[in-house]
Amino acid sequence: MRAEVPIVFRTTLPELEGYLKPKTLEEALEILDELNDQAKIYAGGTDLLIDIRLRGVRNKVIVDIKDIKELKGIREEGDRIVIGATTTIAEIRSSQLISSKLPLLRMTTERFADQFIRARATIGGNICNASPAADTSLSLLVYGAEVELASRRGKRIIPLSSFFTGVKRTAIAPGELVVSIKVPVPRGRQKVKYLRYDRSAEDLMIVGIAGAVFEEPGSSNKIINLSYGAVAPIPLLFSNLQDALERGGEEEILRIVKEKVSPISDVRASREYRMHLIEAGTRLLLKELLRGGA
Ligand SMILES: Cc1cc2nc3c(=O)[nH]c(=O)nc-3n(C[C@H](O)[C@H](O)[C@H](O)COP(=O)(O)OP(=O)(O)OC[C@H]3O[C@@H](n4cnc5c(N)ncnc54)[C@H](O)[C@@H]3O)c2cc1C
Repeated sequence: MRAEVPIVFRTTLPELEGYLKPKTLEEALEILDELNDQAKIYAGGTDLLIDIRLRGVRNKVIVDIKDIKELKGIREEGDRIVIGATTTIAEIRSSQLISSKLPLLRMTTERFADQFIRARATIGGNICNASPAADTSLSLLVYGAEVELASRRGKRIIPLSSFFTGVKRTAIAPGELVVSIKVPVPRGRQKVKYLRYDRSAEDLMIVGIAGAVFEEPGSSNKIINLSYGAVAPIPLLFSNLQDALERGGEEEILRIVKEKVSPISDVRASREYRMHLIEAGTRLLLKELLRGGA
């Protein structure tokens, strides 16, 4: 049965054509299907309102997804933790489940803006905005998270590592929205570390580096994953670095990382300073992660 698409209400923002607040996922997908390119999804609005005011987002109908139950909450499903797209950064930060099972994700919420932004900003918005400096993207990449997308055509799941396609560009197809982020819970012990170089917690990172050593239960195998923010057009993941470490130690890891990064100079830092942070940060992070043996 087709959901009923509500009437579009006008907004007080002259840049916009209207505002809709669907109550169910089905209703939202119906709206996105009908409006197509004209729809603009609104979660916490902390990025979108700036895009509307300063970056020329015009003539859109805002589709506010905050009331949709299917997009909320954090739950354990088998060997994964499923985080609804509209779960706020504050909710993730105070979740016992996240702190105990995905401590690196918790770490990437610690220096995230201030309490007012954290209470509105959502994890879905953080990845969908596709900023190379988005904090939670880095921990989610290290954990091998997947993104669950839905449209009227059905659902699909893609790895977060193939979700980002450029600055503010993602693999989301027309008519789709992100329903949840599915994060595999490491089966063995995990040693994690997050380095965020910034001017203040209220500011975006200059460079961010997240890392983990995952132990395989019942074996001496260890997996080393690192991810980098604000060093390229998209957040970068380097996974399974244990072979590189064995081959050539931290110099080999640095060689692999430096080959891929392409930092820019901007108001926050110069390209040269970012390169310095990448090198110094990688050495520090590896030292801490590998302390007591990898
Ligand atoms: C003062 C300030 C400080 C900030 N500090 C930080 C910081 O420290 N670290 C950091 O990472 N970010 C920071 N940000 C950026 C921002 O708060 C985050 O990116 C936030 O997580 C965005 O979530 P939101 O719910 O507000 O997204 P919105 O603004 O609602 O949406 C962002 C984009 O994602 C799309 N979108 C949202 N949800 C979905 C969905 N479910 N499916 C498909 N598309 C969707 C929207 O259409 C829009 O294009 C800051 C912003 C401000 C204003």
